[in-house]
Amino acid sequence: MARAARRSGREATAVRLIGAIKTVAAEVVREAVALGLEDLGENRVQEAAAKIEAVGRRAARWHMIGHVQRNKAGRVVELFDCVHGMDTLAAAEALSRHAERAARTLPVLIEVNVGGESSKFGVTPDGLEALLSQVATLPGLLPLGLMTVGRPVERPTDARRDFARLRELGERAREHTGLDLPELSMGMSHDFEVAIEEGATMVRVGTALFGPRR
Ligand SMILES: *Cc1c(COP(=O)(O)O)cnc(C)c1O
Repeated sequence: MARAARRSGREATAVRLIGAIKTVAAEVVREAVALGLEDLGENRVQEAAAKIEAVGRRAARWHMIGHVQRNKAGRVVELFDCVHGMDTLAAAEALSRHAERAARTLPVLIEVNVGGESSKFGVTPDGLEALLSQVATLPGLLPLGLMTVGRPVERPTDARRDFARLRELGERAREHTGLDLPELSMGMSHDFEVAIEEGATMVRVGTALFGPRR
């Protein structure tokens, strides 16, 4: 990560490592936290609740990296420090309502379906700025940037175009909406170095840290 950050002209500290802990046992997660991992990402509310209980709410920053369903918004606000997988106004409104009720401002990233795959969550590139502008008016949310789940690629460098595209979408949205949008959450075990070279500020890494999932 540090080498890739340097290649992109940034300090190693400019990129945050989020340990993607789906299916990883709580003891292993605790060990990783003891070794210095500060950010953890879970995909499902139920599993996150059990792990937070076992590892400690304040032991790390907890990121919701899975898709947010509107009916889980209350739990998401209770459990997480930051939400990556948000792609509809309905989910955003529900999160905002719950955050307001809890007297919080929840940092959120908008998930973008850069590759336009039909099987994927995420707002289309064309719909991004409209959604961002709406999210920016919601009192309980703080839009911090964009997130994408890369297409499965054979070689890590094949992912470069989509990562560059997300960065460009962020730059354009910043210009058009006036929002700050400092964060880009992109890159996983296979391609995090390429993502960092293209400007990622957060990478979500599971298997490269914890081994293959069962
Ligand atoms: C599982 C997961 C990751 C990590 O994937 P690895 O290939 O194991 O690094 C990253 N982001 C999301 C959204 C995930 O679900």
